[in-house]
Amino acid sequence: VSSPDREEALSRLTAHPVDVLVVGGGITGCGVALDVATRGYRVGLIDRDDLATGTSSKSSKLVHGGMRYLATGDIAMVAEGVAERERLRRLAPHLVRPLGFVIPVDTRRDAAMLRAGLVLYDAVGTGRRRRRHRRLDLDEVLADAPGLVRGASQGGFRYDDAQTDDARLTLQVAQVARDHGALVAPHVGAVGVLRRGDRVVGVTVRDALTGAEHDIEARWVVLATGVWADHLGVLAPEELGIRLRPAKGVHLVFERRDLPVNRAVVIPSVTDDRRWLFLIPWGQQVYVGTTDTPVDESPDHPTVTAEDAGYLLAAVNDAFGTDLHPVDAIGAWAGYRPLVAGNPEVADLSRRHAVLEPVPGLVMVTGGKLTTYRRMAADTVDRIVAGDGLRRRCRTRRVALGATGAPLEGLARTRAALVTVAGDPTAAGALYHRHGDRADEVVRFAADAGELDPLLPGLPYLTGEVRWAARHELARSLDDVLSRRLRVAIRDREAGGAAIGRVVRILASELGWDEAECARQVRTYLSGVARERGVVPLPGSDLEVDDAR
Ligand SMILES: Cc1cc2nc3c(=O)[nH]c(=O)nc-3n(C[C@H](O)[C@H](O)[C@H](O)COP(=O)(O)OP(=O)(O)OC[C@H]3O[C@@H](n4cnc5c(N)ncnc54)[C@H](O)[C@@H]3O)c2cc1C
Repeated sequence: VSSPDREEALSRLTAHPVDVLVVGGGITGCGVALDVATRGYRVGLIDRDDLATGTSSKSSKLVHGGMRYLATGDIAMVAEGVAERERLRRLAPHLVRPLGFVIPVDTRRDAAMLRAGLVLYDAVGTGRRRRRHRRLDLDEVLADAPGLVRGASQGGFRYDDAQTDDARLTLQVAQVARDHGALVAPHVGAVGVLRRGDRVVGVTVRDALTGAEHDIEARWVVLATGVWADHLGVLAPEELGIRLRPAKGVHLVFERRDLPVNRAVVIPSVTDDRRWLFLIPWGQQVYVGTTDTPVDESPDHPTVTAEDAGYLLAAVNDAFGTDLHPVDAIGAWAGYRPLVAGNPEVADLSRRHAVLEPVPGLVMVTGGKLTTYRRMAADTVDRIVAGDGLRRRCRTRRVALGATGAPLEGLARTRAALVTVAGDPTAAGALYHRHGDRADEVVRFAADAGELDPLLPGLPYLTGEVRWAARHELARSLDDVLSRRLRVAIRDREAGGAAIGRVVRILASELGWDEAECARQVRTYLSGVARERGVVPLPGSDLEVDDAR
């Protein structure tokens, strides 16, 4: 917890050159920073917004090989995902947790095809022959997905994958990078590159919180800016050599009582695009996703349109016999996948990743998945190490991501900490799953601040985690806390509602905000949530979306 905070990190970055500066603090950039730091280099990481503000907080939150990608025949890619899933379950057992899936089937032919696919899925990546999937009869399918009225006349299958909280995983990787010496400064954007001859030797940055501009010198610059790779303006598109065409994915969130599922359920879309949709339980909520719509718009402000919501709800209402409308959703999110257009060399980046060096000194990594971020990072840093003529091997296969020892022991420690400070021991599970080894420290911190109470009914967050986020997790805005440190923005119908006032007061005391700044924070946060929700209402927000633009 003694890592330099944002301001200290930025001042050190501008004072002394680093070996590697990573631009972009999504899962990919954070993974690169950790890999670089553990190979003994001096590394800095900046993001023009918060860590994980981009696609890395908008995913389906699955750590998986991707059953559906088997249909594309790219077994190697699926195997890579499964192998990384297994590894991440070991390295971050608090955050990457097993999740059972049920696929209902309606015809014998589908059943035969799925069985073949699942046998393969069980085997790839783990190299083990052990069968993990199970054939289910109709009653067993209905026990997992009560309310299903269609699509399971032949029963179904159950198989295992894993689920995470994408933003928390990203923050966790960043934290371990900081523990290894990385200087991490969110809310600092790259606005230009520094060159010496034809080589990139650093970046000009703008501090989004103060407006100040600085130069950061680096022997290598890594662009891990996801879908913004060609919107940076720091390199001309011709120099970059690729063009991205984003595809939009949206998710809707419901109270689980409105859509009761006991495991994740896979249902077909009702159009003829042969896509699968997931219903994924998340505490007392369940989310449904996702669409996959190529778009030509700027990736800055994804929003849920009536068409997006209609596509998802048509499938859910058909499979569950429900009559759900966008107004019934309690939350929603939208994000963009980076698809690459117009370069045959990197044409399949939607799922695979690529590491390019478009200009000497500047390495770019793009594509891939949340699940495979570690492999992407390793490939990126291998390129840098080779460029330096060195042999420093990747170590992240063995670097624990915030939880050592068995999860049961961690849980017991968290529970004991709660009992010692007269807190509610039933909060232990959620706290451990978010904070891993630091959960008992978070409990003591919240107790010392007199903030052990739940932030909101129905959600597993302590009020003290707000102060912790500002003090120890680099949060600098209301949105940083309610959208990513705690997932209140997408899991609560009012995105925090009455608790927002208290959160702002805590943050004001930590970050020195005056009244005007508090009001601005609330406006920016609520208008951002309303804009992203689009057709899903945000009760209590009387702001027009356009006010915030
Ligand atoms: C709908 C959807 C569902 C998905 N589901 C899954 C899933 O279930 N499992 C899975 O494994 N993968 C999934 N993915 C893929 C996965 O989410 C992405 O591959 C991954 O999050 C991309 O991470 P990234 O770090 O490359 O990009 P991002 O997370 O977008 O990070 C890029 C960062 O760069 C920053 N940035 C941009 N410009 C600048 C600048 N000038 N200066 C500084 N910083 C800058 C941005 O603020 C941003 O934080 C999904 C994707 C989508 C869209």
